[in-house]
Formats: sequence, C-alpha cells, structure tokens
Amino acid sequence: MTPVPHATSTAPGTAIADTAALLDDLRAIGEDLPGFDLPADRDPAKVWSERKLDYRLVSPLNRRKFTVIVVGTGLAGAGCAAALGELGYRVEAFTFHDAPRRAHSVAAQGGINAARARKVDNDSLARFVKDTVKGGDFRGREADAWRLGEESIRVIDHMEAIGAPFAREYGGQLATRSFGGVQVSRTYYTRGQTGQQLQVAASQALLRQVAAGTVTLHTRSEMLDLIVSDGRAQGIVVRDLLTGRIRPVTAHAVVLATGGYGNVYFKSTLAKNSNVTAAFRAHRRGAHFANPCLIQFHPTALPVSSPWQSKTILMSESLRNDGRIWVPVEPGDPRPANDIPEAERDYYLERRYPAFGNLTPRDVASRAARDEIVAGRGVGPLKNSVYLDFADAIARVGKKVITERYGNLFEMYTDATGEDPYTEPMRIAPGAHFAMGGLWSDYDLMTSIPGLFVGGEAGWGYHGANRLGANSLLSACVDGWFTLPFSVPNHLATLLGSDRLALDDPAVTEAVRRTEDGVRALLEIGGSQGPDRFHRRLGELLYDKCGVSRSGPELAAGIEQVRAIREEFWSDLRVEGRPDGFNQEIERAGRVADYLDMAELMCLDALDRDESCGAHFRTEHQTPQGEAQRDDVHWRFASAWERMADGRYRRHQEPLNFVSVPLQTRDYR
Ligand SMILES: Cc1cc2nc3c(=O)[nH]c(=O)nc-3n(C[C@H](O)[C@H](O)[C@H](O)COP(=O)(O)OP(=O)(O)OC[C@H]3O[C@@H](n4cnc5c(N)ncnc54)[C@H](O)[C@@H]3O)c2cc1C
Repeated sequence: MTPVPHATSTAPGTAIADTAALLDDLRAIGEDLPGFDLPADRDPAKVWSERKLDYRLVSPLNRRKFTVIVVGTGLAGAGCAAALGELGYRVEAFTFHDAPRRAHSVAAQGGINAARARKVDNDSLARFVKDTVKGGDFRGREADAWRLGEESIRVIDHMEAIGAPFAREYGGQLATRSFGGVQVSRTYYTRGQTGQQLQVAASQALLRQVAAGTVTLHTRSEMLDLIVSDGRAQGIVVRDLLTGRIRPVTAHAVVLATGGYGNVYFKSTLAKNSNVTAAFRAHRRGAHFANPCLIQFHPTALPVSSPWQSKTILMSESLRNDGRIWVPVEPGDPRPANDIPEAERDYYLERRYPAFGNLTPRDVASRAARDEIVAGRGVGPLKNSVYLDFADAIARVGKKVITERYGNLFEMYTDATGEDPYTEPMRIAPGAHFAMGGLWSDYDLMTSIPGLFVGGEAGWGYHGANRLGANSLLSACVDGWFTLPFSVPNHLATLLGSDRLALDDPAVTEAVRRTEDGVRALLEIGGSQGPDRFHRRLGELLYDKCGVSRSGPELAAGIEQVRAIREEFWSDLRVEGRPDGFNQEIERAGRVADYLDMAELMCLDALDRDESCGAHFRTEHQTPQGEAQRDDVHWRFASAWERMADGRYRRHQEPLNFVSVPLQTRDYR
C-alpha cells in the first residue's frame, strides 16, 4: 500500500504569491538577533562550562539584598525559586493554583530523558544532542541542546536526592525505557507518574525555602502585567483570585515559568487552566515571541468523543514501546478490532518507517495517523482514531509485566472510555499538546527585555520544530535548577546597590491602572456569550486551519476568521458577577482575550514560514512520500516576533548554525 500524501490545495510556490499581500499588511521584517553563533572551531560541548565560568557572581552576603519574582511553580518555577532561595536571594513566588504541586507538570506521565548512557546500547551525550537537534528538525539552537544533555546527568541525581522515586531494575540500577525519535533507552520514569513524582519533590524543595523564610509564596495570584521601567523588567501586576484585588510587586528581576499555550486549541492534553496570559502580556510589553506556530500534536491522545467535551486526555508515549499501531486495510471496515484478521490490518508505522516503527517521533506519527483517518481508515464510533494494540506484547511478556509497566495508564483509559485495553486495542488520535514556541530568550534564558527571564515550556529553547518525548520535563528541570540560578545572578550582579522600584513610581501606577482598566473593560461589554463559547470556536478554527497540517490559503482564511471571532468577542462577551471577589468568568475572559491575539500570531507565523519543518507541515512543501520538506536556504532561523504599537508584527530572525550535528534530512525509515 502506498502512503497517502497530504491533500495539496495549491501548486508548490503559489502560496507565497497569493499571500504576499496579506503578509505585507500584517508584518514587517526586522533585523537579525544576536542569538548564539557558534564558531566552527569551537567545541560545542565546552560552551556551557565556559559560559558558567564567565558568569558574574553575587557574594553570599549581598544575595539577600536582591529580590527576584518567579511566576509559576511547575517544575521550572519551583526549581528556580527553591534554588535561588537556597542560595540566599529573596524570592517572591506566584501561582494561580491553590498549592504549588497542582501545577500542570504533575500531569506528565511517561518520563524524563538523561544522557547518562547507563545501558550498553551505544548511547552518549553526543547522541542525545544529535537526536534532539535532528528530532527538532534543525530549528532549535544547537548549543542549548548540549546544555540540556550535559545537565541531564545532574538532573536525575538531583531529583532522586530530593525524593523522586525512579523505577529500578532488579539489581538496583535506575531503570530506563525508550521514547519516540530515538533508538536507545534513556528515559527515566516512575511508572506512569513521572511528572507527579518530580513535581511533588520540587514543591517540597520550594516549601522548605518558604519555611526557611527565603521564598514568599503567593498562591491564587495571577500575573496580569509586566512592569518595565528604565528599559528593564522590574515587577509584575497580580490579581488575587479570591478577593479580586489588583496590586503591583517589584523586584530586581522577573522569571516567567508559566508553562505552554497548547490550550489555545481548547481541546488539548494540557491542564484546563494552562494558558498564555503571562507570556503574552510580557510580549505586549516588548518581549519577542519565538516560533509561535510550532505546536506539537501528540499522537497518543484519546480521540474526541463528543463536541461538548472540554479537553482531550493523553496516553503516555511510553505505550508505544509495547503497543502496535494499526488501522484496517479496508476503509470504513465496520468489524470490531478483534474480528479483523492479521492480514487485513495495516501496521502503517512499521511499514512506512521500519527502522523506528512505532517509535517514530511525534510529528511523524501524528501526521501518519491523520493520513489514515483522512483516507477513511479511521476507527471508533466517529472514525477519528487509530488502534494502539497490546495483544502481541501481552502474549510475549504476559499481562503481569504489562500491568507493571503501564497499569495506571490502562486504568485511566478504562475510566475515560469504558473499554478494557487488555482485551481490545486502545483508540488514539493526534491532540494539541506541547508548545515548542514561547518567549524568545538568549543563551542565558533572558528575553529581549533585560531582567526578564523565561524557563520551562513558556520559553522557546531546546526543542526546535518538534520536541522529542521526555525532553520537556528535562528542560523544565535544567532551566529551573541548573541554568536560571546561575544566569539570573549574572544579571543581578550588575545591579548591586540599586533598590527595587518604588510602588509609587509612575511605571508602577500606570501598569496597575492599565490592568484595572483591562478587567473592567471585559465586564463592561455586557454581551450575550460567555468566554468559553469563543474559546471553543477559536479552538475548532485552529485545529482546522493551523493544525496537524497547514496551507497558505487556509492560514490566510484562518487569520480573517480569528479576527472576526475577536471582533465578536469584544462586542458580545458576557461576564457575570463582580470584579472584586472570586470570579472565574473574569479569569477565563482575560485568558481568551489573549488567546485570540495569540491565535492570530500563530497563523501569521505559520503563513510566514513558507517551508515544512517538524510539527509545522505546510502542504505545499512535502516530498513525494508525504514527508516534511525543509528549506534551509531561506528558513534556517528562529522567528522572533515583536508586537508593534499598531498591533502589527515585526519579525526578527535568529540565524541557526549547526556544528556538531550537520544539517541532514530527517529520515526515520
Ligand atoms: C498530559 C501530559 C503529559 C506529559 N508527559 C510528559 C512526559 O512524560 N515527559 C516530558 O518530558 N514531558 C511531558 N509533558 C510536558 C511537560 O509536562 C510540560 O512541558 C512541563 O511540565 C512544563 O513545566 P513548566 O514548569 O514549564 O510549566 P507548568 O508545569 O505548566 O507550570 C506553570 C506554572 O505557572 C503558573 N502560572 C501560569 N500562568 C500564570 C500567571 N499568569 N500567573 C501566575 N501563575 C501562573 C501555574 O500556576 C503553574 O504553577 C506532558 C504534558 C502533558 C500535557
């Protein structure tokens, strides 16, 4: 059977002509960003240790003179706040949750990668970097991948030491397993609860600092604006979600570790409250937004079963170690899975990618599943999924072993669907998941606003155009524990002797006024539709126009439609209740307002990037086999968008060069 190339709505090369006028209207081209230009004669493996040596230090007695705001208490934020607190800085930590351990990181299931190469399978730090850079389709910064790999070795020991109970082999060594996009076993895990165990450990480390008095924790507090004065970030404006009180907090530096924006799609695998507000409001104040269109669709989400559901659930990628993915050969085959004989099943990933099989990277697996569904071979009541089958694995290693490996995931699946994955195959489908885009930052994780740092999924680092499984918990930990605690002090050292911005400074009062006006404006619209109605429509539109695959004309139409929804939002939104008190409608309305602008930026970035790379699949740019066709001549850079005063955008470029991993076409066959 030949693979199904994606439907192409325009002849190659015509999209840019059709959309050039729209692009010109929407965006200007700015200058290149300094980024990180690695000279060919410099060993990338040494860059991080050299940079650490270059960093300025703050002596222990001076540290308590500095205050740092950390927004977010997920893996990245909790690690950063705890480490800075332990070092002796004063930290103000914020989360909109009622407790740090409820951050979205708690939901991660599968595992965390480390280049420790403890299995004799030919893994190494260099191979980790190669897999990561190649997996990201050469649209990430190579030097970042080296830091990620190098610090990964420390991360596992550190997280274990502070309480993460990693799984062990019989002989006592930490156990590992494989994830998509690699052929070695480098993923450390705690059954299907890795995020939860890491988050519990990180939260406890944070609370230890709260008890020690170095960290002040503000729960139920949502950052709604960034205070920029003298050209640098000096504070934030927060709304107390219980009382509605809006107040400013100032500091010498601000760290945003506020997670990813995949929920812009409404139905996503993320926690329902994850959002883009903190990052987008920093973007409005001048922080560049990098690669916003690079969104990962996870191949093992549960299929949508009703138009009214509010999210999709993820089945961990680790299941692809033992589960085999297939569809019936006959389109529309009505038979139950177990009645379809072996000869009439198409194990399409094993067929198309024999070298990686079911462990192809997520973008490849998601596109392949979508091809099968579009070609009519989807399964389940809505014909919108593919099978993930454990029958072979159970026959090979027994049910007990499979239960030990994935028991809680199987229980979760049964709870969600009422089906028993031990006796009939799971049904899975691509779902919006991880944001490779985020606030642009330099190698020190500082954004384009001096003094504003970013960590974890809120940033753009490491993953390029496609994030390999189990590299995200790692990046959150590396940023939080082993990068920001060195790079933030490097900035603070230049501010010795300076006070925090006074609360009556005009920059502060202006930011507070702006925030109060913003909340009031939402309440005063007085229309007829609640915020979720707009969000749901926006999500459907994005899945359609800026989803697993995109085309120039579709994206151009998407921009028009996003604008129409936004106009309707600002004239017909209804927010019940009062501003001064607990009011979740206000919270949601503010987040949806930001999503509407974010969606436009995502479509613009996708329209602008006239190539296919990783998760960004432009139907105009595909090989005859239906694979993504990159254009390194014109697009070997990260786009970093600046928002102009009139609401249009200016694109800056960080050129990307690759020294240790030469440019190559991704091939998982
Ligand atoms: C279902 C699922 C499973 C996953 N499994 C894996 C896996 O197995 N391996 C892997 O590597 N990755 C996995 N990931 C990805 C990974 O979990 C995330 O990328 C990572 O946890 C993000 O951590 P973070 O610290 O950046 O952000 P988060 O954990 O999302 O934390 C964000 C924090 O910011 C706070 N916040 C946000 N906005 C504001 C605001 N405006 N004001 C105040 N506070 C705010 C929140 O309250 C929260 O404390 C998974 C993701 C999902 C959705």
